[in-house]
Amino acid sequence: MLRIIKSMENKYLIPALDLVENVFTAWDSPSEGKTVRALVEEIRSKKYYLPELELIMVDETDRILGYAMFSRFHIEGKYEDELLILTPVAVRTEYQRQHISKELIEYGFEKAIVLGYKAVLVEGNPKNYNPRGFVTSADRGIVAGPSIHLPHPACLMVKELVPDALEHISGTVDYSFYDTLCEDHKNTVYMKRCYELAVQAGKKGFDTFGALLVHNGEILEEAENTADWKKGIFGHAEFNLVHKCANRYPDSLLKESTLFTSCAPCERCLCAIASLGVEKVVFGVSYEAFSKLTPGDALPVDREGLLRELGITMKLAGPVLEEEGMHVFEWWGGEHRPLEELIAEMAEVKAKAAQKELYNNDIM
Ligand SMILES: [Zn+2]
Repeated sequence: MLRIIKSMENKYLIPALDLVENVFTAWDSPSEGKTVRALVEEIRSKKYYLPELELIMVDETDRILGYAMFSRFHIEGKYEDELLILTPVAVRTEYQRQHISKELIEYGFEKAIVLGYKAVLVEGNPKNYNPRGFVTSADRGIVAGPSIHLPHPACLMVKELVPDALEHISGTVDYSFYDTLCEDHKNTVYMKRCYELAVQAGKKGFDTFGALLVHNGEILEEAENTADWKKGIFGHAEFNLVHKCANRYPDSLLKESTLFTSCAPCERCLCAIASLGVEKVVFGVSYEAFSKLTPGDALPVDREGLLRELGITMKLAGPVLEEEGMHVFEWWGGEHRPLEELIAEMAEVKAKAAQKELYNNDIM
């Protein structure tokens, strides 16, 4: 089998993105796969992207075997013309351990030297990178900032491309330049999945809500709404999710998990979530926005505070992708209707109710 290394070309882009996503899905989880794919797309869209150093290895049939991206990087706003970051590196699962990443990375080093770069930063397993000449960055005065959660300090590494390059490069590393690497982005990946579940429920004729439980980047369970008001079946998505998880996962794991839901949970579901022992809830659509679609207004109550008084810890975070989440309700009950129409209809109901109230007050 031939191994040809080249810089990215348009025709390889989609297969390369697919490869990256598949490799990280297999190695970690589907959400990690999507996150790394989004990271590649984000780096490509920004000013630190170096087309010459987005590398692929193909065989004689033009099939992509491996991928490695070097892009410019700064530490505290400095060194962006000297420092590179190596991320991600992905090798087709069936060809791992055949030195494909080694060849790609070493090819990248040589090209980077020609382009005038002095050092490369990487986050990963030291076992993979120490043999390539990377050393623990903290030993060279380059430390991870508070937003970077390393499994071990040795996982952030640096390599000099030219001798003594690191004599003058030091500081605190921060990835906030890349949205994909921030917590917020990961939340959007899970929220999009909640919205898919909600639309799925809607298309089946149920109410459009979906929820899922995530632990350590892995989706453990998913649930859709199955409410049937004619039969008096509650069937809220979060409630269904709690029932899927109950007696299945230990308290210790649930306490570390996050429940994502397409819409801020109703009070009954909040109690169900609390009973499960989950302490973090991320919602898509807020109570306020959702109340545009219900006859009643959102209750102005401090839910976290009320639960705290009962000795229950729960953090409610959101909204996330709220506008997209509101459009999910267009599938409510199985028939697609534009959001504006639904909101206008409810506004009319609210106006009538207010008028009635006024009239009641009049005769009293
Ligand atoms: Zn509910």
